[in-house]
Amino acid sequence: MALTRTACTLALTLGLVAATGTAERASEPAEPPQDKARVEKLKQDALAEVDSLATFTQQMVDSVFSFGELGFQEVETSRYLIDILEKNGFTVEKGIAGMPTAFMATWGSGKPVIALGSDFDGLPQTNQKPGVAYHDPLVAGAPGHGEGHNSGVPLNITAALAVKKIMEREKMSGTIKVWPGVAEELVGAKAYFVREGYFKDVDVALFTHVSSNFGVSYGPGSGNGLVSVEYSFKGESSHSAGSPWRGRSALDAVELMNVGWNYRREHLRISQRSHYVIRDGGDQPNVVPPTATVWYYFREVDYPHIKEMWEIGDTMAKAAAMMAGVELGQIRVLGSAWPQHFSKPVAETMYENIKRVGLPNWTEADQTLAKAIQQEVGSNPRGLESKIGELGTGTPPERNTGGGSDDIGDVSWAVPTVTLRYPANIPGLPGHHWASGVAMATPIAHKGVTAGAMVQAMTVLDLLTNPQIVEEAWKYYREVQTKEQQYISLLRPEDKPAIDLNTDIMERYRSEMRKYYYDPTKYKTYLEQLGITYPTVKR
Ligand SMILES: [Zn+2]
Repeated sequence: MALTRTACTLALTLGLVAATGTAERASEPAEPPQDKARVEKLKQDALAEVDSLATFTQQMVDSVFSFGELGFQEVETSRYLIDILEKNGFTVEKGIAGMPTAFMATWGSGKPVIALGSDFDGLPQTNQKPGVAYHDPLVAGAPGHGEGHNSGVPLNITAALAVKKIMEREKMSGTIKVWPGVAEELVGAKAYFVREGYFKDVDVALFTHVSSNFGVSYGPGSGNGLVSVEYSFKGESSHSAGSPWRGRSALDAVELMNVGWNYRREHLRISQRSHYVIRDGGDQPNVVPPTATVWYYFREVDYPHIKEMWEIGDTMAKAAAMMAGVELGQIRVLGSAWPQHFSKPVAETMYENIKRVGLPNWTEADQTLAKAIQQEVGSNPRGLESKIGELGTGTPPERNTGGGSDDIGDVSWAVPTVTLRYPANIPGLPGHHWASGVAMATPIAHKGVTAGAMVQAMTVLDLLTNPQIVEEAWKYYREVQTKEQQYISLLRPEDKPAIDLNTDIMERYRSEMRKYYYDPTKYKTYLEQLGITYPTVKR
């Protein structure tokens, strides 16, 4: 792990610079000098501790990558991470909020209660050999970590263990929670965690998400919230050639709904995003399809507009059923996500720690891989990031042109929350794509996660040692964030987590994928186990 040590040496050097510097936030209350020195010493210890855990971090990142499990089916992933947390003294409540792979791990006692979360599910058809700069799956057609969700919970565990060691030694009060964003790619879990009260006793939530750079922001997030809805239609089967007049095609209703939606789309706001897939389009052409289902994501920048789109969708579905002469069956909610809003005091605190850690030292090999995959997907081959981003100051809804979603939005309306974006992936990739998995079990991810864990650990220490930050975070939450906007869950009372999703895909591929699970007792790295030369690029 010589590379990571280099990264840390840099962080420690930067740390010394920051420690002797005089730059202070104007709003920060003056701390007694000995406290400042004490916190500084604790932070130095945390940096050294995270660095000493680099091999352990790499093994977690590589293991979860090798499981490549889809949302709600994160069985191996969940079991593996729970085992690590339990061995390290955490009490783990398993299968929470009606989801077998969900958990809440807790260590410590008293206030403040800090919850460290991150997503851990993969994406369909993104299976890919790490460190290889062209499409080369281990198991063709199988799921994989085509976004990088294999890295966030390992980051949080490393940060939690580093802080725990310091808290034990210093006999500090405080509770650390570690929890996974189950089925984030389906925005399937976090609204249920909130509904079931899992954040009721939490003071601050520090979320982490993979990125190609460091970043944190406050205020309204860019991108959208969404509701994910499946429409089922029921028709009448018949011989498609012998007696088509006796049949009523459920697929007709699906197609008519989609045509209607695609016309209506022109007259929706620029900030919307909507997309669908047909989950059931019938069995074979000579049987008039008696059942059909279509699955929509309706995305908008705020709650009223998401609800409005959903209502239009329901109207289209009813109208399509009437046209096709079939019945509209169940309207099933498969997931939901509120637009995000992040805490200013916590984001400012975290950003100071980001500046201090800085980006990892990328090697020639890292840059070669990055440039080759950028070239491969038609991006500018500019390599890895060399400068940390600015502190994000929020995107007001009227300037938000929409985009992706993360159901951390729901958590962000329950307690003061920020998302730490950490540099474990390559910039300029399409996202939700095999290319976004290429870096995720290589030194790029390993170093990025270690650097991210340093920031996360130092931010937890800030919250543990300075109660004023927690107070300010709640003040911001009450007086700014929720002053005019109240959280109303997009879930209906009857909705339940859609834990049946992805069972069929995992059943199809799991036995093949299992052959490639990483064994850290035999191989130093996953790249070594797979016999991949790092980096592997086209000649
Ligand atoms: Zn994600």
